[in-house]
Amino acid sequence: MAKMMTAAQFLAALKAEGVPVRERKGWRTHNRNHKGKWGPLNGVMVHHTASGTDGIEQYVSSGSTALPGPLCHGLIEKSGTVVLVGWGRANHAGGGDPDVLRAVQAEQWPVPKTNEHDGSNGSVDGNPHFVGYECVNKGDGKDPWPALQLEAIARACAAVCRHYGWTVDSVIRHLDWSDWKSDPRGVDWNRMRSRIATILKGKPNATPFKSWADGDGDDVEQPEQPKPEQPSDPDAFPGVSKFGADANNSYVTRLGQMLVKRGGSRFYSVGPGPRWGDADRDATKAFQRAQGWTGSDADGIPGPSTWQLLVKGQGKSIPAATPAQKPVVSLANVIAASRKDPSAAQGKASHPADVKPVEAALLKLGFLSKSYASDGAYGTTTVAAYNAFRRSIGLKGTDASGDPGRQSLGTLGSRSGLFTVK
Ligand SMILES: [Zn+2]
Repeated sequence: MAKMMTAAQFLAALKAEGVPVRERKGWRTHNRNHKGKWGPLNGVMVHHTASGTDGIEQYVSSGSTALPGPLCHGLIEKSGTVVLVGWGRANHAGGGDPDVLRAVQAEQWPVPKTNEHDGSNGSVDGNPHFVGYECVNKGDGKDPWPALQLEAIARACAAVCRHYGWTVDSVIRHLDWSDWKSDPRGVDWNRMRSRIATILKGKPNATPFKSWADGDGDDVEQPEQPKPEQPSDPDAFPGVSKFGADANNSYVTRLGQMLVKRGGSRFYSVGPGPRWGDADRDATKAFQRAQGWTGSDADGIPGPSTWQLLVKGQGKSIPAATPAQKPVVSLANVIAASRKDPSAAQGKASHPADVKPVEAALLKLGFLSKSYASDGAYGTTTVAAYNAFRRSIGLKGTDASGDPGRQSLGTLGSRSGLFTVK
């Protein structure tokens, strides 16, 4: 097995291909090797950032709480500069199809169509096996890919392939790996592959860096015209990256609107809106559970199946909330506990299932302090609290002491809203 490429070798390989490189402080040891495997390397994976330029370098380095950085090894800017972000295990590939991994290992192209994604049952972790490049592009099919950026992508991929003696067939896109992904959207992959193959056929940096595919290099100031868009399906699942913590986009709004139509309005006190929140997660989860799904299929993040059911108006709607069943307290048991517990050893409770709701109600109405309110024993403190409650509802004398009565217990249950009495 080939030795792992080192950070120094990665840097040298990029420089040898003539690609402009900028090193972030500490990139050589910025990784997630403490969290999982790194290696053996089998290929290179190309992504788009689904973002503009602002703040993206910091983001791919730090990541988020849900997805800690580094999120790639190199960030490829629109200018064609490759910013070195990390070396070692990085959160970029996630789970994907083991058949695709086998094809990359065997350098077979095209790879089989992926049937897996991060978290799916048959997926394998791609993070140990791929060098990852995040390329700055909004991924909306309109944001142009400048010629210099495309040339930098080709050279950066070629750099790793040349080091290992791989062909272009070791380079894949995130969309080849995960059926949730669409990146890098808008890159003509046949053209990219042929450029990488051409670079690998020649010596490193055989043409000035300005060149792209045709080698004319004179249109570098002109952003490439984006390809005429495929008539894209407006109902297509936009990818899981559009949802969850930090998501803020029109798909979140649309998700919320669809969930409201399907019985989810009680989850939204405001909105739905573009910024992802608990309401979106809870409503999505309720819809997924309504389909009978469990576990990671009902994690509150929409996948392709959830999305398809919503856009097509299929599947089961979210059922109305069922009021939680209130506990039924036995008057006889409360009376028995009130006679027995005060003289019993500390912490002895004769009917805790009946006494606990009574204590909770006394706590809620302000007659019992928190430290006494959950032991389930009808001790002297509970007796005093219960008697104070009785006085507060106008009972006097023997009606406000001795055995709890049906009237006072019923009033306590209904005023607190916590239990009914049998
Ligand atoms: Zn990606």
